[in-house]
Amino acid sequence: MPVPPGPSPFALRARLLSPLDDGSVLDEVDGLIAVDGAGRLTRVGPWPGAEAPASVNDLRPMVVMPGMVDLHLHLPQLPNAGMGSGLDLMTWLERHIFPLEQGYDRARARVEAPQAFRALAAAGTTTALAYAALWPDSTDEAFAAAEAHGIRAVIGKVMMDRVTYDTRIEANQILERSLSQSDELASRWHGRDGGRLRYAFTPRFAVSCTADMLRESAALAASHGAYWQTHIAEDHGEIAHVAALFPEAADYLEVYDRAGALGARTILAHAIHLSAREVSRIVETDTGVAHCPASNLFLASGMMPLSAYRAAGMRVGLGSDVAAGPELSMFSVMRAGAVTQRALAAGGGADAILDPLDWLRAATLDGARVLGLAAQIGSLEAGKEADLIAVDPRLTAPLPGAASPSDAADLMSRLIFRPHPNMVRAAWVRGRLLAGPPGVGAIG
Ligand SMILES: [Zn+2]
Repeated sequence: MPVPPGPSPFALRARLLSPLDDGSVLDEVDGLIAVDGAGRLTRVGPWPGAEAPASVNDLRPMVVMPGMVDLHLHLPQLPNAGMGSGLDLMTWLERHIFPLEQGYDRARARVEAPQAFRALAAAGTTTALAYAALWPDSTDEAFAAAEAHGIRAVIGKVMMDRVTYDTRIEANQILERSLSQSDELASRWHGRDGGRLRYAFTPRFAVSCTADMLRESAALAASHGAYWQTHIAEDHGEIAHVAALFPEAADYLEVYDRAGALGARTILAHAIHLSAREVSRIVETDTGVAHCPASNLFLASGMMPLSAYRAAGMRVGLGSDVAAGPELSMFSVMRAGAVTQRALAAGGGADAILDPLDWLRAATLDGARVLGLAAQIGSLEAGKEADLIAVDPRLTAPLPGAASPSDAADLMSRLIFRPHPNMVRAAWVRGRLLAGPPGVGAIG
């Protein structure tokens, strides 16, 4: 029986694998998951045998898990993913990124944004926190594409009033123009479709923003109840540059703290090289962090001491950071994260290793927590919204027909370390089937 596109009610029989809010893991080898007409999970549990609903889509041996939450990516950069290996951050930005972002006009967004959301869904991502370019019209187009596609998305127009690629207006007009354009976009899109679409005020980073831009954008984000996102402490060259630009600040984090920008609706990407003071201040202000290990390895930015941050109580989720991260797949990001922690451990620098199920939690429920959405998404639990993916583990077998691991951690380990580009067969947001994945029919 074909899986309905939703949001009509449907039920799936499959293996269910999910982190749970209470800290435990759901591993139902033969499970039932039911979605109502409003796109909510009404039932998550073992296959009930004779008590099963009359109409069920049997997906066995596929695994249904929560949709992935990608806390950091750049929509205009997708065409250059994988390019520039061996460069440092600032050289890579100037050579491969700023010219590409400059050309992300409405016409390009009209073509590329729908492609990007289909590609995200095909990778298993159902929630994405994205940077657009400097231009409000292409940001608007990206929102319209997300609205039509069905993905859950938080997007922001990039703001830069120093080191900018906007050569069309006078430098002294950039601040005011960027603030008013962002304000208008937030008014139009923040909270659209019952909160499926949200706005993030997006000053790129302290290198390209004045203190005025950081402060005023944070004030606007607060007034809209919207998010505020930026980069921090990705690269030693960047950190030195920020120290020179903001001599009054004790460290990088204090630049954003002085702007009034830290808090529960703020997401800082990278945060690799932090002092103990910065770590405790991030925790104290309940600021969220997007860990982007594939990007950090690609640009040789560094290795985040993730276990120490988690032990300190920091809210950390995962981001692909495409295009500095080469792949949209959060399974690939988990692999890069696991490799990074193993490398730190080998050098004596990590005190705890995340296991494969911890990585699943990091890419789903922890990401939802960073966005303040854990009550709605991030795990398979009755009452939450049905943001799901169906994954076929047969595609990850090292030899044709090799059995899929029965142990949940082993199964997740194989999905992380042998991800197949077609293994995500279907993705739903609020029970609505997303375009992108190939489908749960014949395996191609
Ligand atoms: Zn980034």
